[in-house]
Amino acid sequence: MASKAIDPFEPAQIRRLVAEFGSPLLILDCARVRAQYRKLRKALPGVDLHYALKPLPHSAVVRTIIDEGGWLDLATSGEVQLVAGMKIDPALCIHTHPIKRDSDIRNALAYGVRVFVADNPDEVRKFRPYAGKVKLLLRVSFRSPGAVCDLSRKFGCDPEDALALARLAAELGVQVRGFSFHVGSQSADALKHVEAIETCVRLLAAARRERLGAFDTLDIGGGFPIEYAQRAPDIGRFCAPIRKALAKLPRRVRVIAEPGRYIAGPAAIGVATVMGRARREGHWWYYLDDGLYGSYSGQLYDHARYPVEALREGPLLPAVLAGPTCDSIDVIAENMMLPELRAGDLIVGRAMGAYTVASASEFNFFPKATVVAVNRRAGDGGGVE
Ligand SMILES: *Cc1c(COP(=O)(O)O)cnc(C)c1O
Repeated sequence: MASKAIDPFEPAQIRRLVAEFGSPLLILDCARVRAQYRKLRKALPGVDLHYALKPLPHSAVVRTIIDEGGWLDLATSGEVQLVAGMKIDPALCIHTHPIKRDSDIRNALAYGVRVFVADNPDEVRKFRPYAGKVKLLLRVSFRSPGAVCDLSRKFGCDPEDALALARLAAELGVQVRGFSFHVGSQSADALKHVEAIETCVRLLAAARRERLGAFDTLDIGGGFPIEYAQRAPDIGRFCAPIRKALAKLPRRVRVIAEPGRYIAGPAAIGVATVMGRARREGHWWYYLDDGLYGSYSGQLYDHARYPVEALREGPLLPAVLAGPTCDSIDVIAENMMLPELRAGDLIVGRAMGAYTVASASEFNFFPKATVVAVNRRAGDGGGVE
């Protein structure tokens, strides 16, 4: 299969796709989505992987994950709408936003989602009208000040409060299936995952002892790291301590994870075009049609540094890459070494699938990158669409 699929990240293919679909472009390679999914499956055997749509909510990623036998993690009514529109079986989906409006709960229920997340008493009470229909995961917080994005500051209850929350749910007749956590995105190592798993193992046992419900599910969230300009550990090695920690769970506990970045990040490249150039203080400045308000928004929100290169050979000169808007903050990279570029030249950013175009704006009326999905079906030779 791999031999037949085209590689849309090759320079000739990049040029062909830009000629056909315009610039800026985000080229999404479903063959790479598939490869990432399979690698994580192998690194976490027995763990059901729910792709978190947030980093790249695109139907081609969703379809690829479902075709691989995977599951989905939804967090908003918009994501519910996307997946419902694709007629995906709602039994494959969980809804994991800890704070929801009643309308968000109703939208997800109407589609058929049954598993939700709550992390505080008010949020548990919101499910009272739907008791009997829904199953909850209680999100526990494990702070990781070291993570690039510490997702346990904004969400999750203290481990010491988790059982009280479970008791409240039991009193209200709302079924709880287990616990979830998200230690933070792009984790440097798996120590936080391990700590969180060990605590949740104890919580699951304690809740069962108190007969608070089934407590047969553990959701270990996302956070699996990928390579940017900085290296990341191999996923098999990263997950080794997680596998060891999960081995302590009773067999009846189903373990799920919510990978987002790991699936989508390496599966797309961003392609931008030089709109114009200027020489300032002895350096070339190149102005692209994509920037910090567009696909490179992840440099601000997600603290990512994408490996960037030009699709042109030549002696390297110091250069600055800037975005298209009239705002001075809109600079992608200074102190770069690039060949001398001209208007029309292409700039490629690698590992740009996650938290890039998803958080882009159209500030100054510069349109967001078009997303083009290639190699949609395994082994079909790799056409577009
Ligand atoms: C963002 C998010 C994810 C995905 O996290 P990654 O670090 O990208 O894998 C998973 N679950 C929840 C609840 C999230 O908010």
